[in-house]
Amino acid sequence: MKKVILLFLITLLVCFASSLTLVSCKSTYLDSKKSPALLDIAKENDSNAFVNLRNYSNDFVFDMKYATADNFLKEKVYPCDECFLRVKTVKALLEANKSFLTKGYRIKLYDCYRPKAIQKKMWKIVPDANFVANPKKGSIHNRGGAVDISLVDSLGAEVNMGTKFDFFGEEASHNYQNLSEEILANRKFLKEIMLQHNFKSFDSEWWHYNLNGSNKDEVSNQKWHCAD
Ligand SMILES: [Zn+2]
Repeated sequence: MKKVILLFLITLLVCFASSLTLVSCKSTYLDSKKSPALLDIAKENDSNAFVNLRNYSNDFVFDMKYATADNFLKEKVYPCDECFLRVKTVKALLEANKSFLTKGYRIKLYDCYRPKAIQKKMWKIVPDANFVANPKKGSIHNRGGAVDISLVDSLGAEVNMGTKFDFFGEEASHNYQNLSEEILANRKFLKEIMLQHNFKSFDSEWWHYNLNGSNKDEVSNQKWHCAD
């Protein structure tokens, strides 16, 4: 019993010490429980805090591929189909979506924040940096500043971007030009509006966008608390 108390005290002490050095020790959970009414992102003062995008807008389409087995890993690696992001990423994304909506389109999301523990799990399934970011370094998805997206039209039909999400081949690259005029125009449309709203494209994946400056944020490993 004494040992248990001692262990508890040591844990407390370590957590207290680490909080002073800004290394998070506490186990924080991102809650998937929805707010009964939509919240206003302008009222969120901590731009680095993680929030659930679904609480701020009903205007997105969610197709969170890693919460299903319909992905290149062929395994469900997320406990539920939520899109958590930092407040600043949500702010920029809401503005981008408003812009698409005025043109008759909306953003469809495939992936958002990815906790480091899940990055490790993915690396274990596919330990190849051509397909999965090495968890040692971490990706912008692990920092809450990246989104994988496409567009749907006003009838909900997906816009043709030439390849599926997570297609690993040169056809998925922004630099690949051997595509129809329509596909090239669709990718350009997505890219132009995202760039206007403080996002940066990623050359080899037409679907991936990083919020500018988010590479400076810390890799985060928050657990998701999924609603039943
Ligand atoms: Zn991505």
